[in-house]
Amino acid sequence: MKKNINIIIMGPQGSGKGTQARLLAEKFDLQIFETGTILRALAKEDSEIGRKLDYIMHVKGDIVPWDFMKEKILRQKIDQLDKDRGIIFDGTPRILDEAEFWNAKLPSVGRKIDYIFCIDIPKEESVKRISSRKLCKENSHPLIVGKDLSEEETKCPICGSEVYRREDDTPEKVLNRLQWNEKNMKPVIEYYDKKGMIIRIDGKKTIKEIQNEILSYIK
Ligand SMILES: [Zn+2]
Repeated sequence: MKKNINIIIMGPQGSGKGTQARLLAEKFDLQIFETGTILRALAKEDSEIGRKLDYIMHVKGDIVPWDFMKEKILRQKIDQLDKDRGIIFDGTPRILDEAEFWNAKLPSVGRKIDYIFCIDIPKEESVKRISSRKLCKENSHPLIVGKDLSEEETKCPICGSEVYRREDDTPEKVLNRLQWNEKNMKPVIEYYDKKGMIIRIDGKKTIKEIQNEILSYIK
């Protein structure tokens, strides 16, 4: 099945939105627009943008400032995508300015948002999940230590590539990000709620149950 649809998936760290984004991308042949991955890849580059991002994200442990995000990253990246395929937005919008930016920008590239899913989990659960998470190098499969693999295991059970812990996945930094998110996502959710666009999903269910629930909304 192939559909040229555009979806936003939201939810706190550890809500499993990345996993759901990948499942939807496979099912509907969507391009994943995942700002976290884009930023981490750019931060490794030996360029002015790369060095600045590396300093902001890894030295200061801060959120990337909006103007920089908008001008240096979002505008460029959206234009590089295949115009004939849909997009799943994961990790954007994170603030109201960003939601308004997409609202103005997407029609100019012939797109509109068809669905917005918000996966909810309690804060404690989020911190717990992220602090015990590892990712694999090849596919960034998120793996929960103690559930998906043991502490000693070094290979991804899905694809066999090596696993690692993200350096900003400490409980302190996770809590920092969550608090920032909560404060900034509130107006974003209100913004889309006013448009009647938010579909809320209970993130405590299994991956399969969440996927089925999401799919039941896509017509
Ligand atoms: Zn893997």
